[in-house]
Order: sequence, then C-alpha cells, then structure tokens
Amino acid sequence: MKIDLHCHSTFSDGVLTPRELVLRAKANNVDYLALTDHDTLLGLPDFMNSGKELNLNTIEGIELTTYYNDNGKTEHIHCVGLAKKDAKKDSLSNYLKEINKKRKNRALEMLSRIHDIYGYTVNLDEISKTNSVITRKSMLDHLVKENSNIDPQVLRISTSLDSKAYVPTKYIKVEDGTRLLKENNFFVIFAHPCLVKNQLIVETIIKLSTFDGIEVKYSYIYNDEQHFKGIAQKYNLLFSAGSDFHSPTESQKKHGDIGSSTLNEDEFKPMKEILNLK
Ligand SMILES: [Zn+2]
Ligand SMILES: [Zn+2]
Repeated sequence: MKIDLHCHSTFSDGVLTPRELVLRAKANNVDYLALTDHDTLLGLPDFMNSGKELNLNTIEGIELTTYYNDNGKTEHIHCVGLAKKDAKKDSLSNYLKEINKKRKNRALEMLSRIHDIYGYTVNLDEISKTNSVITRKSMLDHLVKENSNIDPQVLRISTSLDSKAYVPTKYIKVEDGTRLLKENNFFVIFAHPCLVKNQLIVETIIKLSTFDGIEVKYSYIYNDEQHFKGIAQKYNLLFSAGSDFHSPTESQKKHGDIGSSTLNEDEFKPMKEILNLK
C-alpha cells in the first residue's frame, strides 16, 4: 500500500493540475494522496472530485508557511495540515486570503526591483492577474519564460534569498500557524524537519507548537528517517510521509515522484482513524 501525504499542484508551485496529480497517483499505484499546496485551499474541490471520479482516496490538505525566529535569523517552517471530517476552514481561509494578497504585492515589488537592478524582462500585468500563490519559485518560472535568452541558473540568483532585489514576506509564527490549523480541525504535521537549517531548534519548535505528526519519510536524499522517528516517539507524534512532488521533470534530490515516500499500512492506521478515512 502506498500513502503519500504531501504534493503540489498548479494552484501553488506544482506543474500538474489536481486532476493530473490524481491520474499520476493512479499510474504509480498510490492508494491515498493528500494535496497540500502552499498557503491555498483553492485546488481542493477539483482534487476531491477527480479522486471520486477516478476512484482514488484523496485527502484535503495544505502546506502552511510559518516562521521561527532563531536568534534574529528567520527559519521558515512548513506545516502540513490534513483536513479532518469536520474541518471548518473559516478562519484559515480568511488568513490565506490576506497572506496571498500580501504575497502578490511582494512579488510585484520584488519583480520590479529585479527589473531595475538586474535588467530582466518582467510582465507585471500577468502577475497581477494570476490567482495562484506566487512563491519565489513562481517568480523564477516567470523570469525564465520572459527571458529565454538567459541561463535559468543565472536568473535564479535574482530570486534567491541573497538577491539584491529580495523582499521578505511576513508569515505567521509557527506556534500561531499550528494553532490556526488545529482550530480549523486539521491534523497538523511538521513538514520536512530535515530541511530546517539549524537542526538544534527542531525540538524547541515541537515543544512550542501543537503538532500531531512529523514527516519522518521524505524525498530529500539526506533525510534521516530513523532520527526523526526517534523524535516523533519522544514527543508522541504520529509518523507521516510525503514525496513533496512538484513536477515530473525536476531533479529527484529533494522532491520525489508521487508515492516515492510512503507510510506502510500499520503506520498509517492511527492517522487514518483520526482523519475518518475508509
Ligand atoms: Zn515545504
Ligand atoms: Zn511541499
């Protein structure tokens, strides 16, 4: 049995539509798949309908961006939320509307700075019209499309955290983000703790927040599954698994194909009951 609880669609920075994700999951013999787009729930209706139609167990989810202030350094912490049967989504939707407005303004500001500082072509009109969540990756995709004569690796510098054009986004604190997900009846998972730059703060963050589970199985080649299983047991958290699939063509070093990180049936059982899945 394959259970993949983390992937992205065109509603955030993935390249497949929710329906295409369901088709790919079927082709990869996945039994349960959660759609967890960055800071948006908008892909979920299409995802759930496609699951019903194509007979795949689909789970409504989200990946909420939060932050932790590590002695003046901002560490972004991603929280995967999986909707329980009675999930409300009201205050979560309001928060998402607000943050995505901010994200769009930030993208417009950052791209116009990129234009001024690096001289690259940008199409701000197109960005203003988009309804999907605009991450730094989407900005890079936009630049690649508009500047086909320039090496994408060179363009990447202008959207990096060290870019002279960088504009930060103000997210929610990790403890507030996990609480928001909980209040809306989501099961809350610490996503890819292996990617936290300062590993010493992982347990501090767990103690501070209201996680129910931790992504112990993840596609990143340096993920230490046994280490995170130990931490999960120490804090009484359930195991989770996610491929973090974004695109069929990207390198498989960090993100995997759908179903490449999976829980086994026994590991999934307690979460399955909490999520009220058949
Ligand atoms: Zn993430
Ligand atoms: Zn992700």
